[in-house]
Amino acid sequence: MKRIYTIDIIIRSMMIHFIEGGGFSGNIYLIEGDHPVIIDTGWDANIDRIAPQIEQALGGKELDKIILTHRHVDHIGGALAIKKKFGGTIYAQKEEAEALRQGDPESTGARMFGTRVKPMDVVDLDDGDVIDLGDGGSLKVMKTPGHTTGGICLLDSEGGLFSGDTVFTEGGVGRWDLPTGDFKMLLKSIEALAELPIVSLYPGHGMPAEKNGAEHIKLSLKNLKGYGAYG
Ligand SMILES: [Zn+2]
Repeated sequence: MKRIYTIDIIIRSMMIHFIEGGGFSGNIYLIEGDHPVIIDTGWDANIDRIAPQIEQALGGKELDKIILTHRHVDHIGGALAIKKKFGGTIYAQKEEAEALRQGDPESTGARMFGTRVKPMDVVDLDDGDVIDLGDGGSLKVMKTPGHTTGGICLLDSEGGLFSGDTVFTEGGVGRWDLPTGDFKMLLKSIEALAELPIVSLYPGHGMPAEKNGAEHIKLSLKNLKGYGAYG
């Protein structure tokens, strides 16, 4: 009998540009496509450092959406400047969106870092929403509270996870001691993420992992359970 061996080949066709956050600034990701999307915008309203890379990635297209994983100033600070220069509608989970519409200095961390957040127009997202990227690609919104109350991860249609500050590579986890943060919620969120067959992990700080994303998340879960034992 002839045996047929099958080999799983993972092909990620999505073109994702990584703009590394400098200093306190969060990472920025740009997904190319019919409807280009930016995920998080970094700390700074002065976007001179990042604008050339965004411009090159867009290749003359307008941005379609600016999606914010959560309300913190190191992820949303560049949103209005990016929108002004490259277009796009700003989206965030509805609890986070409300804080951004108000320009809330406390829960965004703006006051803590001695800066301000300008109130901005934001369209609400919530758990389960699906964002069409064109070219057959999509992003699914997963509400993953714990770092903030309405923080989200975005799961792309090829097994990539944009995880904001919920979970990082190499077993890192988000802080739960900031305003609206909660340890138990964070644990529950990371437990849910650890069940998923994540290929690539694109966190809000530190380096992304193109492969073995699920292993990174499992390590984060193990570490968080360890912190819980002491916390
Ligand atoms: Zn954060």
